[in-house]
Amino acid sequence: MDLVRYIQAKDIKSWLAELAEDNTVFAPCYEGEAVVFAPFDPKERIHLPTPATVSPKKTIFPESERLVDFTYSKDPEDLSRIMIEGKENIPKGTAIVFGGRPCDVRGFSMFDRVYLAEKNTDVYYKARRENTSFITLACDSTESTCFCHWVDSGPCDSNGSDVLAVPVEDGYLLKALTGTGEKLLGSSLLSEGESKVEEAEKVCKKAAAELGQPPDLSQAPEKLLEVFDNMEFWENVSAQCLSCGACTYLCPSCYCFNITDEAQGMQGTRIRSWDNCMSALFTMEASGHNPRPTKAHRMKNRVGHKFSYYPNLHDGVTSCCGCGRCIKSCPAGMDIREIVLKAIEFEPAVIEE
Ligand code: SF4
Ligand code: SF4
Repeated sequence: MDLVRYIQAKDIKSWLAELAEDNTVFAPCYEGEAVVFAPFDPKERIHLPTPATVSPKKTIFPESERLVDFTYSKDPEDLSRIMIEGKENIPKGTAIVFGGRPCDVRGFSMFDRVYLAEKNTDVYYKARRENTSFITLACDSTESTCFCHWVDSGPCDSNGSDVLAVPVEDGYLLKALTGTGEKLLGSSLLSEGESKVEEAEKVCKKAAAELGQPPDLSQAPEKLLEVFDNMEFWENVSAQCLSCGACTYLCPSCYCFNITDEAQGMQGTRIRSWDNCMSALFTMEASGHNPRPTKAHRMKNRVGHKFSYYPNLHDGVTSCCGCGRCIKSCPAGMDIREIVLKAIEFEPAVIEE
């Protein structure tokens, strides 16, 4: 049997304080009314009953990061020659992400297929990914926006986590899933967990039952390609969209970035920042041409990428973890589920001869 332990809810902060002695511990903390992942501070409140407003994406893929510091200099032998010396800022140190949900952790697996690919491995992402562990909080209830079960996951999915914490009476059952997870459960604040296993299983079953049966998405990749050129379809489904980009920033599986060089005099820094495919400027070319000139084109790209192009490249895996944040936080009430289902159900009009 996997190692299982139990912690009382009142001891969680003391446990995190112990873990924070040797690691940066990220936990769901308040930032105004929003709940975001930030370095744990024992003086601050943490929020565990419901998923954080923002996913923990930035713990491994920061909104903005300095990739390289560089210096220009002139070759004293040939002043027309400019030399550049760069120093990479490879992230160091270990981190623990506490309180992300199964869907959040699944989001990183979508990054992995791209950023840890054998060719073009992203060394910055890799360094953080390898040095970060996950103590994931299973969901004991679901929200109307949750649809992790559409994408082969669920409220107690343990994939990608080192420890799964299942809420039980007055505390959490902690299940180690990896060797790292076992080490994380060494604290004297934890007690035996076997007696809570049955209760935890009931919690997981109840949450899964709340979600009901998922629709069949197996046709989604093909159907989305079939409506690729149907701009009337995309104009209809994107009509309410404000192009604000909130959906992309909150999404645990959106991984587009932009690179800028910021230089002053002979020194500078290469910076990577999150990009936003819903922005009108996303694919704007230097010539002024934009291959995705309208929000309909951009919505097509966002939904198509997640439910068609990515799965077609990566063994059918959907690049959406069903967290529902884009639905919950969209100021225009857009629902990505409705768009996917409309594409699946779409039948072209039959023209009578
Ligand atoms: S959050 Fe809603 S309104 Fe904003 S870009 Fe996304 S779909 Fe459009
Ligand atoms: S597309 Fe929406 S539901 Fe899917 S992972 Fe991103 S934010 Fe979550």
